[in-house]
Amino acid sequence: MSFLVEPPALPVPQLHDEELAELNREFERLSAPKIIQWAVDNYSPHLSLAASMQDAVLIDLAVKVDPAIEVIFIDTGYHFPETLQTVEDVRRRYGLNLKMMTVAHHDEELWKVDPENCCSAVKVGQLDRALAGKAAWMSGLRREEATSRANAPIVARDLRGLVKVNPLANWSDLDVEGYIADHDIPVNPLLHQGYTSIGCQPCTQLPTDPDDPRSGRWAGRDKTECGLHS
Ligand code: SF4
Repeated sequence: MSFLVEPPALPVPQLHDEELAELNREFERLSAPKIIQWAVDNYSPHLSLAASMQDAVLIDLAVKVDPAIEVIFIDTGYHFPETLQTVEDVRRRYGLNLKMMTVAHHDEELWKVDPENCCSAVKVGQLDRALAGKAAWMSGLRREEATSRANAPIVARDLRGLVKVNPLANWSDLDVEGYIADHDIPVNPLLHQGYTSIGCQPCTQLPTDPDDPRSGRWAGRDKTECGLHS
């Protein structure tokens, strides 16, 4: 007897390559709220937003479109206390529909010996779990954050086959700073201490290159991405 059950077919549009290309051309001219509205209209309730809690810009924009949107945060067990406090502050401010993914405690410090597998097991594995049954998800990824992200599309299909929407892909650092100031958006207090990209504590330090905001991530290693945005 098999216990494998096929997931139910989702009543949502499946996008082909030509449609994605056309949408990307159109979305380059649209505001982030309109892109979020498109995602909500087409994929809610099979839509989530994955948050890093560096700031709450995307959350602020998204809850104005859909106050009940599901927000995923992956608690790797290695976050800075400031990041966990930001999660709580943001949850309270917006009354978030928060899906907190927690990782079972493990004594082994895999990040020391094999950060690639650590990210894969802890971050990507938890996101896979969180997105089970979903058709699409959003993230705050931006092109200006890193050269590896310079060509990030606004809408794409991820390795799971889900639609991935990056409504802020073409926002500059100044756009983000302006939105935070204009709307009194909660930010991770580590930003005020000089951190320009915030991940797990053991793998995050102050930037080593002032021209590369992500240079403090996995500094001294050959690794630049955790795999969440593959
Ligand atoms: S960022 Fe570091 S601690 Fe966090 S999951 Fe990746 S390797 Fe592990």
